[in-house]
Amino acid sequence: MREENIVLDAPQKEVSLISGSGIAKQFVAVVGGSAAGLFAAALLARRGVPVRVFERIESLEPAARTLIVTHRMRALLGHAAESSIVNEIRRFELFTDGRAAAVALKQPDLIIERRALIQGLAGEAQRAGASLELGRRFHALHPNGRGLVLEVERCSDGKREEAHAGSIIGGDGASSRVARAAGWPPLETVPLVQSIVRLPKDMPADTARVWFVPQDTPYFYWLIPESAERGALGVIGENGADTRRHLERFLEKRNLDPIEFQGARIPVYKSWVPVRRRVGSSFVYLVGDAAAQVKVTTVGGIVTGFRGALGVAQAILNGGSSPELRTLRRELNLHLLLRRSLHRFQQPDYSRLVDLLNAPAIQSLGEYSRDEAWRILWRICLYQPRLLLLGLRGLLTRSRVSRPAVLS
Ligand SMILES: Cc1cc2nc3c(=O)[nH]c(=O)nc-3n(C[C@H](O)[C@H](O)[C@H](O)COP(=O)(O)OP(=O)(O)OC[C@H]3O[C@@H](n4cnc5c(N)ncnc54)[C@H](O)[C@@H]3O)c2cc1C
Repeated sequence: MREENIVLDAPQKEVSLISGSGIAKQFVAVVGGSAAGLFAAALLARRGVPVRVFERIESLEPAARTLIVTHRMRALLGHAAESSIVNEIRRFELFTDGRAAAVALKQPDLIIERRALIQGLAGEAQRAGASLELGRRFHALHPNGRGLVLEVERCSDGKREEAHAGSIIGGDGASSRVARAAGWPPLETVPLVQSIVRLPKDMPADTARVWFVPQDTPYFYWLIPESAERGALGVIGENGADTRRHLERFLEKRNLDPIEFQGARIPVYKSWVPVRRRVGSSFVYLVGDAAAQVKVTTVGGIVTGFRGALGVAQAILNGGSSPELRTLRRELNLHLLLRRSLHRFQQPDYSRLVDLLNAPAIQSLGEYSRDEAWRILWRICLYQPRLLLLGLRGLLTRSRVSRPAVLS
């Protein structure tokens, strides 16, 4: 990891504040050794903070997943990103009801393999000095006089162990046990299912396809190539069984045979989740899916989870303040606003959306990434204000569908 990529602005003396305030021998405990947790661990360990990561899986072989992220990931991770990148996307094709539009990306999106990403981040965290304790399931926490006590269960034999920490970071995903133990309310989640398929013959390896089919889902279907031969075709839904059925029907219609299925539930961002809570005299923090740090337009959580991890590392090192968390909050709230509008779109709205994509609007979509939504929106205000009116109409219209609105 290159030093200049870690946008931590804490002066070194504030790190020593942590080690000089009576919790010198206490460490930061990170629960969850996946994307957000490991990135937070690496950032803190690089600043000399003692870090222990507790992960329930017993070997560093997490479930494989093909993911698409913006080039922002490279800026955040530096060379730690490279080993996980399997392909680059330079063009998006959008389809709805027989209409199509294409967007050329100025900076390519990255197709990454989640297992390689996690292994790369684990290596970074360990090289920086963090210890990685696999096969340890977090169970509970409570304050003691000097900090926090974590109860973890050894997955191999069910034996309970206790560990003492100065603070705890919960990077343990959408159904975070750390969050529940520290008093955060549960998050709403939606199912995401994708299938690995052979790419259709007409599909270039540098192009991703998106279909808006509002009868099936208020989100969308996508096909992202991981190589010239294979890609991941997926859908986000609202109900697990329906979502899988819709995906199977979509595959059948396109004569695509599923090679394997990947899926899990993703948190729905409904409002900013404060990332820090006091427990006793110490703090518990959340990063990534545990704090719903997910762009609710696309349900992408990798880059935003890294930004959340960076923000929490800043907060720990700076005694609470974090510029990254402020900008992440603004960004996630903007995606929420866009989702509220899109969630009410019906077929005629999507058709109109594709029809309204004029050349400057398409250029703006290609120039800025999904992680810079404010810039895209500003440019669209200038070049195709009717798109904004369409969005506003979506916002002001009551849902016309019988399905329960996730985001009301
Ligand atoms: C099929 C699929 C496709 C996706 N596609 C994309 C995409 O294209 N782009 C994108 O940006 N996002 C995508 N996402 C979302 C993205 O994967 C998540 O937002 C991201 O992985 C969240 O990372 P995280 O580190 O916060 O949590 P997770 O990856 O959920 O990690 C949580 C970790 O905590 C561990 N853990 C849980 N409980 C405990 C416990 N009690 N004790 C110890 N350890 C525990 C788990 O084993 C796990 O390692 C996709 C998700 C799915 C399911």
